[in-house]
Amino acid sequence: MHAAALAQLGLPWRYLRLPLPPEHFAETVRALPAIGYAGLNVTVPHKPAALALADERTPAAEAIGAANTLTFAEGAITAENTDAPGLIAALGESPAGRTALVLGAGGAGRAAAWALREAGAEVSIWNRTRERAQELADRLEIGHVERPGAAELVVNSTSVGLDPRTAREDVLAALGLTDVEPPPVLVDLVYGERPTALVGWGLGGGSRVVDGLEVLVCQGALSLERWTGRAAPLATMRAALERGPPAH
Ligand code: NAP
Repeated sequence: MHAAALAQLGLPWRYLRLPLPPEHFAETVRALPAIGYAGLNVTVPHKPAALALADERTPAAEAIGAANTLTFAEGAITAENTDAPGLIAALGESPAGRTALVLGAGGAGRAAAWALREAGAEVSIWNRTRERAQELADRLEIGHVERPGAAELVVNSTSVGLDPRTAREDVLAALGLTDVEPPPVLVDLVYGERPTALVGWGLGGGSRVVDGLEVLVCQGALSLERWTGRAAPLATMRAALERGPPAH
């Protein structure tokens, strides 16, 4: 996705996979600007560490407690969280005044709940481990529910469904949705095979569905714009994801 975007923009940059053990994360990242890196996307488990090592942090990253984007410029490392605005961009409409139910209180759930609350939705959170939902709800001053119920917008930010072999009824059971009607708008952050079991459930019930690949494109586009200062070629990025990873 990023390689295709950089080629389209005519930039002689490369987007590389850089596996790092947690114990060497901070020292390695601090060394990267000197060898020509413009920035990084950061994923599990490094997002809180990325926030901690930065010289500057956006309010979103600070509030969410995690950064997925680091930018190296003018001798400083800036930490941002584009998962949150990426979700709102992928949604394609304002959730202001809508009821929103976020499933999952892990890293993605925190970003989703914060983003929706900031955008004016009435957010509640459900999580398999109830204490985590309660803790996040207290921190963000949003509601939490014991069991998922009706909402105008439902966001799956758990990892349920990541294994494409999981049957639809098992996905619904794990998320407490067995007896719940598909919502008007459904976002499934899980990505992989299209459609996921949950997306299939939403489409079957008439939901407008936003899938995890679209959210992935939107958060990636925001990171790319931050590093390059150029508008991200969204159609090129979507097409690259649809083609799948290059064979090498
Ligand atoms: P995480 O911090 O490890 O959180 C995992 C969440 O899933 C927790 O809420 C956990 O609940 C829940 N969970 C796991 N197994 C479950 C089960 N069998 N039944 C019910 N709940 C279960 O992971 P994350 O970083 O938040 O990522 C979550 C998902 O979002 C992943 O699939 C990731 O790929 C996806 N994601 C997508 C994008 C995108 O751009 N599309 C961006 C970020 C993340 P407990 O607290 O009870 O363990």
